[in-house]
Amino acid sequence: MSTLAIHNPATGELIVSLAADDAESVAAKTAAARQAQPAWAARSLAARQACIEGFRAGVVRDLEQLAATMTRETGKPIRMSRNELHGLLPRIDFFLAETQEAIGDQTVFDEGGIREQIQHEPLGVVANISAWNYPWFVGCNVILPALLTGNAVLYKPSEYATMTGLEIARLLHEAGVPRDVMTCLVGGGPVGAALLAQKVDGVFFTGSHATGQRIAQTMGKRFVKLQLELGGKDPTYVAEDADPQAAAESLADGAMYNTGQSCCSVERLYVHEKIHDAFVEAFVRTVKGFRLGDPLREDTYIGAITRAPQLDVLEQQVEDAIAKGATVLTGGERRVGDGNWFEATVLVNVDHTMEIMREESFGPVIGIQKVRGDEEAVALMNDTRYGLTAGVYTRDEQRARRILGEVRAGSVYWNCCDRVSPRLPWSGVGDSGVGLTLSTYGIQAFTRPKAWHLRSPG
Ligand code: NAD
Repeated sequence: MSTLAIHNPATGELIVSLAADDAESVAAKTAAARQAQPAWAARSLAARQACIEGFRAGVVRDLEQLAATMTRETGKPIRMSRNELHGLLPRIDFFLAETQEAIGDQTVFDEGGIREQIQHEPLGVVANISAWNYPWFVGCNVILPALLTGNAVLYKPSEYATMTGLEIARLLHEAGVPRDVMTCLVGGGPVGAALLAQKVDGVFFTGSHATGQRIAQTMGKRFVKLQLELGGKDPTYVAEDADPQAAAESLADGAMYNTGQSCCSVERLYVHEKIHDAFVEAFVRTVKGFRLGDPLREDTYIGAITRAPQLDVLEQQVEDAIAKGATVLTGGERRVGDGNWFEATVLVNVDHTMEIMREESFGPVIGIQKVRGDEEAVALMNDTRYGLTAGVYTRDEQRARRILGEVRAGSVYWNCCDRVSPRLPWSGVGDSGVGLTLSTYGIQAFTRPKAWHLRSPG
């Protein structure tokens, strides 16, 4: 039997070796999910909601232990692990409150003996292949609305967040979701690939662009609903009328929170030349105040890099930038020793010939580029293959609306950043993906709208 070894990225220690799935077990679990799904869909929405309410209560009850588990396997600072779990609660509440309205039958026409109705049927059995950086958020953005709308879920958490994935499944089972309706698969890419080989009715993927592209190619041969939530290179422009200190504090957090390992981390900054130096000084001062170290310590802000190979990516991006003329103002190095560590790094004198301004870094590094005005900032913000989020800091709302209206991105921010709301759709443009989660659209995404044409006999 194959196993999956889970290591603590902060120490390198082996935490546990888990029995892993293989092609045979994935096929058996898919067949069981197929068998179990109709009875789950036949339960009333109130009965399914009761299970999700029980799940919520379990999260609240076990929160400290769940946070510690996530921190041990991902290296996320413990305060941020707690924040993610606390942040999950309003998402659950949103799904509980909105599902009825989002998927209720609709009569859209009723005249001359003809009625037209829309009915939202569950897709059936859906696959959720997920990332490790916000495992509760990205996992539950799919799992909860999928279950509430009557689907069975085969969930393949990241191999870097599997203990958390198993906890999500445990709490759902304890709350009454049948085992075969919510299945957690253990393993890495090959187990994800084995899942895609099954007859599923929807594939919901969160992860890197490279894997997303591979999945799209695999699924291209079949007509199955596919959503891809991928990476970004999210820009923010700081205009000359912004408060440089306040903007710097907000954006340093947006760039470095979760050790820069957020899909919507601020990854590129464009600052108006009139306030560039004041902004950079405040930004570097803020970043220097971020404590790097043991993720279990309450005062740690920069935790471990979850995946060791990412250290090479970060090192290479910094080296490439320096070779092309960038200046490192703080950080710039990986830390040698046990675990995966990279210093919070700020570069200036950067431009778009450098990888650091073009490719996703997914770590605590950022480049700050000086610009002469709005037009140049918009052109640079749009000079990317990605389009997840983008922001602007200015006192002027009209100016912000004009600039953000011209930027290609799924979410845009005025005077804020690195923010996700359950009430708003979460989506990407270009290489940041297709489809969406969250909002009422992200509930309907797990259903097929069936068209009913009804003529009364007269
Ligand atoms: P990844 O692509 O390495 O892995 C994602 C998942 O795909 C894992 O579960 C992995 O086991 C699985 N996988 C790998 N190869 C596979 C294959 N051939 N077939 C099927 N499954 C396969 O990504 P990651 O390192 O886990 O996540 C980081 C990336 O996710 C970043 O690019 C980040 O921006 C992105 N992300 C995006 C969002 C969003 O909402 N857009 C949210 C979180 C993370």
